[in-house]
Parts: sequence; C-alpha cells; structure tokens
Amino acid sequence: MSTDNTTFPPGATETTTTDVLIVGAGPVGLFAAFQAGVLGLKCELIDVLDRAGGQCTELYPEKPIYDIPAVPGCLAQDLVDRLLEQCAPFAFPMHFSQRAESVSEVLPAHGKGHSRLLVTTDTNKRFDVAAVLVCAGVGAFAPQRVSLPEAPALEDRHVHYAVRDVSRFAGKRVIVAGGGDSALDWALALRKVAARVTLLHRREGFRAADGTVAAMHAAVAAGEMDFVIGMLGALKTAGDGNDAALTEIEVRSRDGVQTLPADELVALYGLVSEPGPIAQWDMDMRAGRILVDTTTYESSRRGIFAAGDIAYYHNKQKLILSGFHEAALALRKAYHYAFPEKSLVHVHTSNNAALKEKLTHA
Ligand code: FAD
Repeated sequence: MSTDNTTFPPGATETTTTDVLIVGAGPVGLFAAFQAGVLGLKCELIDVLDRAGGQCTELYPEKPIYDIPAVPGCLAQDLVDRLLEQCAPFAFPMHFSQRAESVSEVLPAHGKGHSRLLVTTDTNKRFDVAAVLVCAGVGAFAPQRVSLPEAPALEDRHVHYAVRDVSRFAGKRVIVAGGGDSALDWALALRKVAARVTLLHRREGFRAADGTVAAMHAAVAAGEMDFVIGMLGALKTAGDGNDAALTEIEVRSRDGVQTLPADELVALYGLVSEPGPIAQWDMDMRAGRILVDTTTYESSRRGIFAAGDIAYYHNKQKLILSGFHEAALALRKAYHYAFPEKSLVHVHTSNNAALKEKLTHA
C-alpha cells in the first residue's frame, strides 16, 4: 500500500479522482479498503494521524482482543498489522496527516450522468469520488495541547506535539513532557541527537511498556538524559512576536519551582478526540454520530456512508466486528454509485480467478 504525507503550500490543490474515499484508517477503514478491492472498487484512504490503526494503535496497541471472528486472540496492533497486510494486494493509496474538512456535491455536466462528491482536506487536497465512506471512529484525534497561555504562539516553532523530523532537534536542549510510550520513546531517541534531553513527568510512575521504562531509567543512570518530576509552570522566552524563542521552562513540583534551560518542548500528553468538521456535513446526526440506514449504512446525505464507531443506529455496538459488517454493506451500495450501469454480481473471492490470483500472490 502506498502512503504519502504530502503537505501542500496554502492555496495549492491537487484533485484525485477515484470511486470511494474512505475517511479514517482505523480497523474499520482498513477492512473497508479490502472490501472495496474485492468488489472491484478503487479507493483511497485518508487519516488525520500519521499512521493507520485508529484507536487500536493510539489507545491500546498492546491490549489483547479476543472477539474478532477466527482470531482467538491477538494484540490490537497485531490486528492492525494483519488488516494492513490483508488490503496490501490492492495497493490503495493512504494519505496520512490529512483531515477531511468539507464535502460538496458536484452535479453532472448538462444534467446528464450522476452527481459526484468533492471532499477537501485541511492540506487542500481534493478527492472527486462517487461515494464517501466515513470510518472516523470517535472523531479526529488531536494532541492534547499545553494549556499555558504562552504556548500557542510557540507552537510548531518551539512547542511540538509530534516529532516529524529528528534532525530538527540536533544540538538543542529538549524537554519531552509526558509519561506514556510516545514520550519515553521520543526522549530516548532524541537523546542521540539533542544537546540534552530532559523527560518531564508529573509523577514517578509511567503509562509505558516495562522495557521502555527500564531503558529510560538506564539512560538516566548512565548520564545520557535527565528525568524531572513536576508539572509545566511557565514557558520563558526571549525576543518578540514570531521571533520569540524558548529559553527556559518553569517546572512546579512538591519541592517548589525550578527552571530548566530549554530550546524546544515536545509535549506528548496523548490524544483527545474531537467531533471535527464531519459533524458539519449536513447529515442527520445523533449524539455526534452519523445516523445511518441499516440496510445500506448510507447517511441522510446521498453517497455518504458511515461504518464503525461513527455510525449510529438503534442497538449499535461499538465493536470492530460490527464495523466490518457495516463497511461491507455500505460498499455494496457505493458500488452502484460508482458503476450505475452495472449490476453487482456476488462472487466469493475463491471463485473469482483474477481476485484469487491477486490475493494469493501478493
Ligand atoms: P477508530 O479506531 O476510532 O479510527 C478512526 C480513524 O479516523 C482515526 O484514525 C482518526 O484519526 C480518523 N479520523 C477521524 N476523523 C477524521 C477526519 N475528519 N479526517 C481524517 N481522519 C479522521 N472493540 C472490539 O471489538 N474488541 C475489543 O476488545 C475492544 N477493546 C477496546 C479497548 C479500548 C481501551 C477501547 C478504547 C476500545 C476498544 N474497542 C474494542 C473498540 C474498538 O477499538 C472500536 O470499536 C474501533 O476502534 C472502531 O474502529 P473505527 O475504525 O470505526 O474507528
């Protein structure tokens, strides 16, 4: 499966034409991609995060899951890896770090043919599609931000919520704040390029894998990095406006206030989910979720379907297996929008020679 993290300069656009756009590359979006391939639909996926997996990867990668049919037990991340493997033969493009922002209907020229949908992302990428399958889960994940008033002005310059380019931190005094796997992993990785890394966490205990915590303590004992217990109190800067540079971080703890010299702050406090722009897509919603017709999983807006946690109907169960079923049925209806002149003939993967070849020789 090809991936890209393209970000376009403001105002620039690129339009991709395909059959179906899948919004959200969580477990349901990934299975939907496989189903699209089986049905002969072309599709592309987008996710606001920089990787696939949704809640499984972001919230509980090492938790076992026992209720996936024919998988007696596997870790959540293993399930995501298997789903990626399953849809890989179709090589559908996945676009990460792209949030679906708006959708508009494109009427057919001269009133002939069928209308299509145009989805725009926050990086001005556009998708011209016959149908949209929204698998956006609990909404768009966003980093939990530093709540200090001075933080927004420093964002992306000296205050970071992700590490996209390690070399950016070379020779810098870096504070990594947080107590989860990401914070510890990045503190350990950045210590190899930074002038000094300090891990800042509000307590002694961590929400990270035992091996990672042990590696961090070993690195501290070896003098390769520092660990400070406390809460961010204030960010001190030098310079004005857009030139303001971070110089120190004030840390508050039970022992009082201390200042740490700092050029960069990487705050990895985890993710929060936001309803995001899909809530404004003019569909009937219930409690922030998309109301669907359970025969097709189509929303109240023609051509826009929903599957997985974002879909709402009576007795909906927020389980991965429910999302798989919903996506499979949604794509069958989407097929008619992509190929209105064709009828969808039900085939099993095993008796479609071309499909069998693709799936067995991937
Ligand atoms: P998600 O996994 O939430 O993925 C949605 C994706 O859409 C995200 O990656 C998000 O970034 C992206 N997105 C959202 N909005 C946009 C946008 N506007 N543009 C681009 N991308 C967007 N279920 C089980 O079946 N078995 C279990 O054992 C189980 N255990 C669980 C344990 C925990 C701790 C939790 C929190 C959940 C558990 N679940 C379990 C529930 C299961 O994780 C969800 O049902 C499942 O993740 C839903 O998948 P999804 O693809 O619909 O959504």
